[in-house]
Amino acid sequence: MSYLMNTYKKSDFCIVKGEGCTVFDTDNNAYLDFTSGIGVNALGYGNEKIINAIKTQSEKLLHISNLYRTENDEKVAEKLAKKLNMQSVFFANSGAEANEGAIKLARKYSYDKYGENRYEIITLVDSFHGRTISTLKATGQDKFHKYYMPFPDGFSYAKANDIEDVKSKVSDKTCAIMLEVIQGEGGVLPLDKDFLQNVQALCNEKDILFIVDEVQTGVGRTGEFCGYQNFDLNPDIVTLAKGLGGGLPIGAILAGDKTGETFSYSDHGSTFGGNPVSTAVANVIFDEMTDDFLKDITDKGDYFISKLKEIKSDYITDVRGIGLMIGMCLNDKKVNGDVAEFAKDNGILVLTAGNNTVRFLPPLTISKEDIDKCVEVIKKALA
Ligand SMILES: *Cc1c(COP(=O)(O)O)cnc(C)c1O
Repeated sequence: MSYLMNTYKKSDFCIVKGEGCTVFDTDNNAYLDFTSGIGVNALGYGNEKIINAIKTQSEKLLHISNLYRTENDEKVAEKLAKKLNMQSVFFANSGAEANEGAIKLARKYSYDKYGENRYEIITLVDSFHGRTISTLKATGQDKFHKYYMPFPDGFSYAKANDIEDVKSKVSDKTCAIMLEVIQGEGGVLPLDKDFLQNVQALCNEKDILFIVDEVQTGVGRTGEFCGYQNFDLNPDIVTLAKGLGGGLPIGAILAGDKTGETFSYSDHGSTFGGNPVSTAVANVIFDEMTDDFLKDITDKGDYFISKLKEIKSDYITDVRGIGLMIGMCLNDKKVNGDVAEFAKDNGILVLTAGNNTVRFLPPLTISKEDIDKCVEVIKKALA
């Protein structure tokens, strides 16, 4: 009997600790983790630097209102802004909250410049942007647009990789286009570079803000600090969350030159946003993302994809992804769940996504030996 609301189909076992890339249940069964808390535990479990940052900061100050200046949020905001050529940063507590803030930021920019009738945001079919009412509406999947009406107006959906469809949705009401460069929940679908660059050009031409939701793709996942860098893009607004806190809750809105000063006193806020402990860890995570570390992610991701492609199975229709964000697409809607179940029973945790995709989001510290172990079990599952 559990008193938690029944919103997740939970495992029957209970996880009590983690070490490196392995988690353990109450009976001390080990599971090699290819989920990392859905792309959150970027450095795995038990990382000394993270633990020390939490210890040190929690002894000094757990929380203080954003009415007072603190050190850690200032530091990591500066690092993020300089690294990504952005002008200002707002810290929230989750991906949905960061996206919600990005929507507000885009609408305020447009309101200030063009008045109140330019508020529409175009997102893509099969996108995922979060679980708040607005970010559900921004999510381009009908199954998320039930029960909670009325949803806010001002969202429309264009087909991914179809620039003509995007153009047909643009009107004098459009203020922003928001997308994920690799659709994560939608099935690990990297978008075409041409398409993304065309979206960006369209945005620049019409002073439409280009928002990239890097909640899942950001913070090293794709072998670049942000996924959009794999596609040579230059967005106006970027949102981060999952990996940025290394396991603690955090979200961030990064604003470029156009919107860097759009929010002013009391235009936006958050009680917990930029919490000193979460941002202490965010500093550690940021500092770990060296060029060598990022290059290693690319190497391991390429290795992982090549090993998955070697598996001979009639079920597999595609293996795709960038860095350590990888999807194995199957031709049978039910089999991806069976594969995940089989893997779990054999000590490997994997995710599913879309209708038919097995999704791998290991800690970025995963080793090639552990990748081999995972591939062996997937091979057996499909045999
Ligand atoms: C997970 C995710 C979100 C939502 O993040 P939460 O922290 O769960 O609110 C938003 N966008 C993308 C692309 C995501 O993968």
